[in-house]
Amino acid sequence: MRIQSANLLTLDVESWYHANYASTQKFPSPPTDPADRGVHRWIELLAEFRVESTCFVLGEFADRHPHLVRALSEAGHEIGTHMWSHDLCYEMSADQFRTSLHRSKSRLEDLTGQPVRGLRCPSWSFNPERMPWFEDIVLAEGLAYDSSVFPFQTGMYGSSSFAGFKRGLREVQPTVAKFGAWNWPITSGFFLRVLPTPVFRYVVRREWLSNRNTMIVLHPRELDPQHPRMRLRLDHSFIHYVGLRGVEAKLKWCLEQASWTSIRRHLDLKA
Ligand SMILES: [Zn+2]
Repeated sequence: MRIQSANLLTLDVESWYHANYASTQKFPSPPTDPADRGVHRWIELLAEFRVESTCFVLGEFADRHPHLVRALSEAGHEIGTHMWSHDLCYEMSADQFRTSLHRSKSRLEDLTGQPVRGLRCPSWSFNPERMPWFEDIVLAEGLAYDSSVFPFQTGMYGSSSFAGFKRGLREVQPTVAKFGAWNWPITSGFFLRVLPTPVFRYVVRREWLSNRNTMIVLHPRELDPQHPRMRLRLDHSFIHYVGLRGVEAKLKWCLEQASWTSIRRHLDLKA
């Protein structure tokens, strides 16, 4: 049975060395970045299934690979922002946050000629307690929705107490499924990669059969298992690299089994 509900397909568009672990390798200058491979694979796969996605693009990435941002936009995908640099937003002042958001939004709009309506902070780094100014700034920049709230606390990010925005900013959260004793964001990055395929399929299908939609969150590097590697602490390396080779098959299965769309279409926003 093909699932018809609105499942959301999202890609955080950044380079293979963008991460926020304590052991994240720092490069004195930007290293080689074969980003074309992952981005074009995303475009090809989604074209095969005639599916539109939302791509949250990092400003720094857009500066370095403007042709890839144009290619995503010309292929019909929504372009949202992933801020200018891959720094944690809850460590920024309000002014730093505003500057980074404005700079990335302007750059992306210049490249595509389309308005940017959505934001996802790097590494889900929205923290309601530390960023009381967040909603006002995001609305003042003309955005309609945010997708930065990870619905439970992890070591680096997430908030289980977030009660929603108050002044009209809409929130779109990743899917969290009950998995044994845990809440498991089954279709996001590491969590999607680490589950064995039969378990992944079982849990995703169970969500669909319970009439819950899912939101996929991936990165270009996850569609390019040959991408260069960072030297990371062992546990960080596991989180970052486990299960890369199974990603494309899992994504294809999801595309075959259900209907998918972008966040702007889901929220019925005008392009
Ligand atoms: Zn990111």
